[in-house]
Amino acid sequence: MTYDVVIIGAGIVGAACAAECAREGLSVAIVEAGIIGGGATAAGMGHLVVMDDSEAQFALTRYSQQLWDEVSDELPREVEHDACGTIWIAADDEEMAEAQRKATFYSQRGVAVELLDEQSLREVEPNLRSGLVGGLRVPGVSVIYPPCAAQFFVDQARTRGAELFLGNAVEAVDADGVRLHNGASIAAGLIVNSAGSWSPMLTPGLKVKNRKGHLVITDRYPKFLRHQLVELGYLKSAHSSTADSVAFNIQPRRTGQLLIGSSRQYEVDDAGVDPSILRRMLERAIEYLPGLRRLSSLRTWTGFRAATPDKLPLIGPHGEHRRLYLATGHEGLGITTSLGTAKLLVATIMNSESQIPVTPYLPTRVPQETLHA
Ligand SMILES: Cc1cc2nc3c(=O)[nH]c(=O)nc-3n(C[C@H](O)[C@H](O)[C@H](O)COP(=O)(O)OP(=O)(O)OC[C@H]3O[C@@H](n4cnc5c(N)ncnc54)[C@H](O)[C@@H]3O)c2cc1C
Repeated sequence: MTYDVVIIGAGIVGAACAAECAREGLSVAIVEAGIIGGGATAAGMGHLVVMDDSEAQFALTRYSQQLWDEVSDELPREVEHDACGTIWIAADDEEMAEAQRKATFYSQRGVAVELLDEQSLREVEPNLRSGLVGGLRVPGVSVIYPPCAAQFFVDQARTRGAELFLGNAVEAVDADGVRLHNGASIAAGLIVNSAGSWSPMLTPGLKVKNRKGHLVITDRYPKFLRHQLVELGYLKSAHSSTADSVAFNIQPRRTGQLLIGSSRQYEVDDAGVDPSILRRMLERAIEYLPGLRRLSSLRTWTGFRAATPDKLPLIGPHGEHRRLYLATGHEGLGITTSLGTAKLLVATIMNSESQIPVTPYLPTRVPQETLHA
């Protein structure tokens, strides 16, 4: 078995990369240890969001969001694509100043936004508590159900000739390709490590750390919410790279359910639900939406984000191992940025021009001594 490219992992990132490599005419093998989209992709919220921690983060999220918009008509029903828009909520004047800064930043870069005062915020989301200062509405933003999107891209790759090896773990990357847990080998010109939070196990030395998150999904309450709501205080807590944090983040699903997030914890390997974090998260959500107290939750779960030190993913050649490419380290934005990642990865493989510069995401930006094949 010899392929141009072997992709390790069929989360949203590996799936999108496989579809894009196959579109370029490359022969592709996809190796997935578990089920398609069963890792962080199944745990995530599926908010296709534009973010602006840095120009590079903005460029990749914006580009990716546009790619999602382009593909939205092709997505099957089960992907639950919904252009509900996002509102960033300002609880005080400091957060409103941040909403205004964001509004200027986004509109200067062609993203449609609308500033809301207290009254217009209550009009568009009547279940929010009174006394909030306002918010920033970003109407173009969508949400999806990520595991079905991963399945869609794997199907697309297979239609273009890719082969799927499901239920097979890659044990090691070697000079000729990959060696599987069952003893078989797959030879390939290039290997793409897109194993998310497992990627450092296959490529030791990668600066990718787990960042645990909790989520809760409720029963069906259609019309309780119209937009994905995120507190602007979220930016303060998401920025902390040491302390545990919770922030109000809630999403209306097509089914009428409400997906409530989220938390961030470093240095926690246990995947179990932590009741104290969950309580903090729900109390925070109830502070913004008091009516949540009356609703029933159906399920809680956790997932691990694959975090890099500078909050940007690693996309492109590994730098030391000649055949190895990386598409990992997407932290809390990998559903959004999967499509941009796939385009950039293929540009680095084909040595072709990309729509946005790839340099900020190249793995070689991370000090070389941390990278070992
Ligand atoms: C609580 C939470 C909320 C989030 N919300 C959002 C959001 O709203 N928007 C957003 O854009 N992102 C969000 N994210 C982030 C997003 O979920 C991830 O960035 C994204 O799913 C990463 O995808 P991936 O394909 O890199 O990793 P994964 O989905 O983890 O896929 C990796 C795959 O590799 C496979 N694998 C591992 N080891 C091997 C091996 N040795 N051999 C073969 N296969 C292997 C695994 O089985 C897995 O299927 C959230 C994450 C969390 C945890």
